[in-house]
Amino acid sequence: MNPGILVDYAKMFGITTPLRPFPSLAIGSSEVLLIEMVSAFTTFANLGTRAEPRMVRYVRDRFGREIEAPPVKLSRVLEPALAYLVVDLMKGVLEEGGTAGLARSVYYVDVPAGGKTGTTNDWSDAWFYGYTPHIVAGVWIGFNDRMTMRIPGGRPVTGLPDPSGAVMAMPVWARFIRDLYKDEERGLPKDDWVRPPGIVEVELCASSYTAEDPDYKLALPTCPDRFTEIFLITNQPTEECTVHDPRLNRDFWRRIPPIPPLPPN
Ligand SMILES: [Zn+2]
Repeated sequence: MNPGILVDYAKMFGITTPLRPFPSLAIGSSEVLLIEMVSAFTTFANLGTRAEPRMVRYVRDRFGREIEAPPVKLSRVLEPALAYLVVDLMKGVLEEGGTAGLARSVYYVDVPAGGKTGTTNDWSDAWFYGYTPHIVAGVWIGFNDRMTMRIPGGRPVTGLPDPSGAVMAMPVWARFIRDLYKDEERGLPKDDWVRPPGIVEVELCASSYTAEDPDYKLALPTCPDRFTEIFLITNQPTEECTVHDPRLNRDFWRRIPPIPPLPPN
């Protein structure tokens, strides 16, 4: 992706910190404010609509009456269907095998949630941004003078995992979210995102890609391993699997045992 386009996207998501348009931007080489990133992630939590941060939720008088409540500023940034696809991807971060998979298996976060870990290459910053349909929270851990958090020698010497976003920041997020949802007074619902229109479920062949063409293809009835994936209705795969297509693959027919000759009558 062109780094210039990334900078434009970042502005749309409310990032006001100047970003350097280098290719490494895509992996997080520019620093932004935590609160701006939390605001950017509201775009996904709200399926396309970003909420601007506000420092004051309301002002009450001495009788407890609300006298001032600054409105939430909302702006539509993405199509809901596209935002839903991104949420679906970022849910994977918190599942088994994801970079923050321990959020569920060790910290018992049991609500629908997506997130993203981050670590700088000198281990001076570790962060995690995560969200549910109702709350977005970000955690940054580091020293204010940008000193590395890695103990000299690292894991071979200390026996401890290196201070990544998943190790340092995600556990703080996970405990906060878990306790927030446990709070009965607050009563946050544990519902999942509602799938917006414009998304289709497609069945793909798990072994349909080749080195020359790494896209998964539509599964045929003859495909042995299939999985379901969601796509934008306007951007769904149209090509059928060629690996298991008996019309194209002579080997497929060879594997069928020959028909035994009929007994003479
Ligand atoms: Zn196939």
